[in-house]
Amino acid sequence: MSEWDALSDDDRDWAIATAALDGDKCPVCGGDDPEGLCQNPRYQHAWDVKIRRCYKQRAVLMAMERVRSDPYAGTFVPVVTLNEARAKPERK
Ligand SMILES: [Zn+2]
Repeated sequence: MSEWDALSDDDRDWAIATAALDGDKCPVCGGDDPEGLCQNPRYQHAWDVKIRRCYKQRAVLMAMERVRSDPYAGTFVPVVTLNEARAKPERK
């Protein structure tokens, strides 16, 4: 049980954002020392970014696309399980 459990969702979001600021973490990326690093103009072009795909979320989005035309599509709750039998063979 946390002190935040009694808060509404909005209040909890604000508390988390405020804690992030108080904790010297960037509220955008969650990184440490925002003034020295992620919010420092000196490093504007110094960040290397690698993009990786989350195949789990991709599968969820593809499944939700199939029910997109349902007038109550926003009420579907994706239940995701990993089926190892459908995995590609591991590379050696
Ligand atoms: Zn940041």
